[in-house]
Amino acid sequence: MSDSDTRDRPDALRTPIVAVLGHVDHGKTSLLDKIRGSAVSEGEAGAITQHIGATAVPLDTISSIAGSLVDPDDFDLPGLLFIDTPGHHSFSTLRSRGGALADIAVLVVDVNDGFQPQTEEAIDILKRTGTPFVVAANKIDTTPGWNPQEGEPIQVSYEAQSDRASSRLDENLYEIIGQLSDSGFSADLYWRVQDFQGNVGVVPVSAVTGEGVPDLLTVLMGLSQRYMKDQMAIDVEGPGAGTVLEVKEEKGFGTTLDVVMYDGTIREGDEIVVGGMGDPIVTEVRALLQPKPLAEIRTEKRFDRVDSVAAAAGVKIAAPDLDDAMAGAPVRVVRDRDRELVVADVESELAEIEVETEEEGVVVKADTLGSLEAMANALVEAEVPILRAEVGDVAPRDVAVASTAAEAEHQVILGFNVDVLSNAADELEESDVRLFHDDVIYQLVEDYETFVEERQRAQQ
Ligand code: GDP
Repeated sequence: MSDSDTRDRPDALRTPIVAVLGHVDHGKTSLLDKIRGSAVSEGEAGAITQHIGATAVPLDTISSIAGSLVDPDDFDLPGLLFIDTPGHHSFSTLRSRGGALADIAVLVVDVNDGFQPQTEEAIDILKRTGTPFVVAANKIDTTPGWNPQEGEPIQVSYEAQSDRASSRLDENLYEIIGQLSDSGFSADLYWRVQDFQGNVGVVPVSAVTGEGVPDLLTVLMGLSQRYMKDQMAIDVEGPGAGTVLEVKEEKGFGTTLDVVMYDGTIREGDEIVVGGMGDPIVTEVRALLQPKPLAEIRTEKRFDRVDSVAAAAGVKIAAPDLDDAMAGAPVRVVRDRDRELVVADVESELAEIEVETEEEGVVVKADTLGSLEAMANALVEAEVPILRAEVGDVAPRDVAVASTAAEAEHQVILGFNVDVLSNAADELEESDVRLFHDDVIYQLVEDYETFVEERQRAQQ
């Protein structure tokens, strides 16, 4: 295939999927909003496309934001698809076959605050999954050394030598580069981007003024084009593959799946296999839904039906029998393949995430497969045995199972990011089962350990 063929069929290369991570309050949400806002303020129709759970920013829009830095003729990836839910919890939950769903990540670091616990955690996850990332050194508008005059570049030396720092901003940026280096990465500062190198890019930005956003988009686009092009080559017409972001009740459609498709195409009427609580679910796509354009969103019907969706894209799938589907689980289109083979494929992918359980231990509930796995890992590390681990809200059955534990310290349910069904709350009241729930894993484990220690002390 010649280059021109590739350009005539840009769908042959899919859009890279981008996730935004970082410590709480460092500006993840604001940065995503700013990227969407900058795209929209470019004013063209189709400047961005709102998907289910994700926003697509096409190459042309990136090019008009970045100006001469991104010449569309130099790129053949179609743009960037940003996952709308920021945070490393959603990042580690979202897997695709054998890795992270996101192809590339933006690690947001408050330039005044530097690395914080969740920054370190995010770096660990990025390292473990081998995900390339760019650091957005955010909130530069609040740091002395910032020059708000339009078009005035900040004087930042390109070498990571803190003795050359000439302002607070410089110092803070060097500090981040030093911290990256402590984590095993060499870093380059990209300000008024001229060129890309293979190291981790640190891009000074402000999610409030928008300074640096063009540079950030340029670096993301450049890294994707240079280092990820081969991985983006997909068989667009092939059977679709995706990951469930959320299982949601939707008026008029019953239980639906919010899915990010990263391979092939899914069509209305397709037979699909979805990872479920028990055996994989085999069902048929009744409808594919996308959000209506913002202007029409106030009308009662919030979705448009589409015939098909090609990767990479976020889409809502309506189909029968989805009640037991799990967030974080794979979705596969069967199409012209053997259904049993596809089921086996989904089973083996789920088995990778399955948690080791024992005869005696605690009950664990989590909101997604990925978080269940993370919970289980944390408990194994803390030497807490697990009797049962499942995705989903705390149900009466969980109380019944937890109460069968022989040891009182195992008559416990640990719930991560889940609700307690009202009938389960009643049963909890009447039983000796203790419930701990939180949306921070280490907190949950710590609370449980404290409980065990206090019990032991009371018994002495
Ligand atoms: P998240 O928890 O990482 O999603 O952080 P948010 O996006 O919610 O931002 C936390 C706070 O920092 C909010 O009050 C934002 O308005 C503020 N903030 C975020 N980015 C910037 C920035 O670039 N400059 C300034 N001055 N404030 C920011």
